[in-house]
Amino acid sequence: MTTAWVLTPDRTGSPAIYEVECTSCLAGSGPADDDDGPAVWALRHARETRHTGYRRIVTDFRRALAAD
Ligand SMILES: [Zn+2]
Repeated sequence: MTTAWVLTPDRTGSPAIYEVECTSCLAGSGPADDDDGPAVWALRHARETRHTGYRRIVTDFRRALAAD
């Protein structure tokens, strides 16, 4: 019999990581524990540079478990 595996949210390690990157000059906010810091960084960067495109990167983690 083959063991079934499922992919589940990993609650044992790091929580999600949020980051924003400018698509014009590739400057970045750096990683943060929530969305607020990167958003504030992007708005400040837009005001200072007039760069208006941003890539929002959210990294979260999964853990594979044997179902039986
Ligand atoms: Zn920029």
